[in-house]
Amino acid sequence: MRRRVAIAGSSGSIGTQTLEVIRAERDRYEVAGLGVASSVDVLVAQAEEFRPALVAVADPQRRAEVAAALPWCTVVDELAGLVECADVVVNAVVGFAGLPVTTATLRAGKRLALANKESLIAAGPVVAPLRTTPGAELVPVDSEHCAVHQAMRASVDADQEVARLLITASGGPFRGRNLSQLANVTVEDALAHPTWSMGPKITIDSSTLMNKGLEVIEAHELFATPYDAIEVVVHPQSVVHSMVEFTDGSTIAQLSLPDMRLPIGYALAFPARIGTPFGRIDWSTLERLDFSPPDLATFRCLSLAYAAGRAGGTAPATLSAANEVAVESFLEGRLRWDQIADVCNGVLDRHDAWVPSTIDDVVAADETARAAASRLVAEMSTV
Ligand code: MG
Repeated sequence: MRRRVAIAGSSGSIGTQTLEVIRAERDRYEVAGLGVASSVDVLVAQAEEFRPALVAVADPQRRAEVAAALPWCTVVDELAGLVECADVVVNAVVGFAGLPVTTATLRAGKRLALANKESLIAAGPVVAPLRTTPGAELVPVDSEHCAVHQAMRASVDADQEVARLLITASGGPFRGRNLSQLANVTVEDALAHPTWSMGPKITIDSSTLMNKGLEVIEAHELFATPYDAIEVVVHPQSVVHSMVEFTDGSTIAQLSLPDMRLPIGYALAFPARIGTPFGRIDWSTLERLDFSPPDLATFRCLSLAYAAGRAGGTAPATLSAANEVAVESFLEGRLRWDQIADVCNGVLDRHDAWVPSTIDDVVAADETARAAASRLVAEMSTV
């Protein structure tokens, strides 16, 4: 029987790449459901090719259009509604909006292929207990965490045997530059990632190293590794996707070309592997792999994320929400690149961490942080 896959956020970068993996492995996977916020033209084209029984459209204005274009489909309004039709749910929604898909999938005891790191970061204390639902399983669709997930399989008792996680970072487009050299970078500069092709939000996060900071929190949530045992290593070639050092001094790394279709395929197939390689390393031209420590004075977002992770409670949700607002403002030309860290720092500074116990608590923390971030952005824009 083919594994039934639903994709929440099917029109974006991870969503379309998931469909490329499925197109290459049609004998093993079928598309049971597709969902978008409002990109209905892409959704309709995808549905015509993959024939899912269920589609979800969050935008109420566009839903009728989709229902008319896809008469054989059931059209629902919530992306979390896709969970019922699938064995694996790929959560490829961008930002905090992905939280309902994360919780619904785990609550239903299904596999969650998680590309939406923000939901895990913001709602860690609420998501963690849902992972004990019988059948629920979280497989990360993030190249670093996919690498750690693979390396962990080299240990019989990860709780006892992991010494540290080494999360690699390409360093983004601004690696090697200092703050004064980065004062006037443009949106275009920040979107020019040297090794990965991704959506705009995560590409900006890569340029500030906030993405790496959020990944440190994500690693802590996924693998229950203490912050003191999670290190970031800059590795510009993006071939080593992360490493785990064990108590005997052995380090296990996962290497592959930078292509998100590998972690997507891993999450679909686990514990098996897909039969299609999306690129293979050519060892005759690879020549070198470089590693260096991150520049924390320039890339302040990385330190902010460690601080928020260590504070715990609502601090990661606050940081992630403030960052979403700051990145959006930067993309709209209302904030300078170096002010993204200022906004995150300002919001985090004024915030008292408390422990959220329900989804509503997390949503409240998110809203409070967004409001605070918007006020700060408005103040900074007028200076
Ligand atoms: Mg990543």
